[in-house]
Amino acid sequence: MAAAEDRLPVRNPRTGDNDYWITPPSPKRLHEICQELRAAQVAWGARPLAERIAVMLRWADAIERHAQAIGDAEAIDTGRWKLSHQVPHMVVDGIRGWCKSAPALIDRALLSGTSTIYPNVSFQSQLKPIPLLGVISPWNHPFLLATLDAIPALIAGCAVVVKPSEIAPRFVEPVQRTVDDVPELAAVLRFITGDGRTGQALIEEVDALCFTGSVGTGRKVAVACANRFIPAFLEMGGKDAAVVTATADLDRAATAVLRSSVFATGQICFSTERVYVHESVHDAFVQKLVEKSNQLELSYPDPRRGHIGPFTFVRQAAIVDAHIDDALAQGARLACGGKSEQLGGGHYMRATVLTEVTHAMKVMTEETFGPVTPVMRYRTEEEAIALANDSDYGLSAAVIAGDVEEARRIGERLDAGAVALQDAGITIAILRDAEKNSFNLSGMGGSRMGPNGLLRFYRKKALMANHAAPADMLALGEA
Ligand code: NAP
Repeated sequence: MAAAEDRLPVRNPRTGDNDYWITPPSPKRLHEICQELRAAQVAWGARPLAERIAVMLRWADAIERHAQAIGDAEAIDTGRWKLSHQVPHMVVDGIRGWCKSAPALIDRALLSGTSTIYPNVSFQSQLKPIPLLGVISPWNHPFLLATLDAIPALIAGCAVVVKPSEIAPRFVEPVQRTVDDVPELAAVLRFITGDGRTGQALIEEVDALCFTGSVGTGRKVAVACANRFIPAFLEMGGKDAAVVTATADLDRAATAVLRSSVFATGQICFSTERVYVHESVHDAFVQKLVEKSNQLELSYPDPRRGHIGPFTFVRQAAIVDAHIDDALAQGARLACGGKSEQLGGGHYMRATVLTEVTHAMKVMTEETFGPVTPVMRYRTEEEAIALANDSDYGLSAAVIAGDVEEARRIGERLDAGAVALQDAGITIAILRDAEKNSFNLSGMGGSRMGPNGLLRFYRKKALMANHAAPADMLALGEA
């Protein structure tokens, strides 16, 4: 039984009150949980794939039944109403989608044949699930990011323990009820609440780790995983660039850029965070962007109305304000919006557009994670590409040009894992279809998307048989 002083308070992003509490497991209890999961994984991993899929589909049905309760909890976690109530259905689609594609993906990964080096040797591959996967997830998309990696890992046959962020953990209670509805799954999937200390302790227990979060924490996680020689899959921040060419449809460009800048109050890893616009259309683009920005309303006081909700993590508002202050102090111009405002205990920010920005400013180099769109003019295509690639990050990017071919030509030269052409911020579209690597500080450890999103949870083994007669076998070992 945990003592009251072990509890951690959780702030409500709309009221500013601490109105929820979580109790992290003690290190001893965490160890016991992991041992239980390990024991159950042996049978889970040995089940035929079709049986694991049947269990996962029952979980999808259970989430659908509890979707309202999960959405309600996540809406308090994040301050966002509509998106929070869409997320349970996105997770359900994710489970059903992976269940559909997994058999063929696994089939294609199972290789067999004859050695090209020793013709007498035949081989067959075996996929062995990693026994216990740890998932450490951030506050900005609580349920989705707690399960994005867990779903394919469970289908692969792993047991999974998830540690979501202490900032947004309310969704765990109703989600745990959906897991409890499916006893075979409850034996191999557990959510634990806690802060960074629980995350660190978790790394000591697991066989591989999926982390989604900031670069600073990712570095600590990578070091801890390296100390244990366990694989670490790190998905970190971004500073996504969008390039708008002289030939672009400016209405399309402004719509795409604005949506991908302010969606979820800009608290999405692949939000558009900087825009490079050809000088010949810069002013017209900014005018359209400002017009569209001014049409957006704060989602206050009614969480079901408006477009831009509160900052989920209160300290984020101060970071975004500091980026705006730094830009204005160095000569940037505020075209619309402005710094955060406090309403009813929550911190809100209107869609904000900055012009006359440079790469000396934080708003063009550090992750802002707010509804801010800084716009910079460029003269040549080479300059646009150089500016877009001048970043510590490389998560995703966007190009809006006269046509897809022009956009593709520029997109191919951008150092980012997922490049949207003629739109922005659509990375999630390829989740189960195409692989992408992060560039620079945005990630490490192979694609979480496409076939590798599932296959990375297997240790690949090769079983080899030598069919040579005894006399020929000796030849293999001769010096
Ligand atoms: P964060 O502060 O790095 O936290 C991420 C997770 O790590 C949380 O669960 C956190 O727990 C935990 N943690 C903190 N310290 C730890 C430690 N020493 N050892 C192990 N775990 C530890 O990130 P965040 O602020 O929650 O999330 C925002 C960041 O995530 C942004 O940079 C965003 O770009 C990035 N992100 C990336 C992607 C992607 O796919 N690339 C997607 C979404 C978000 P507590 O919160 O409880 O301290």
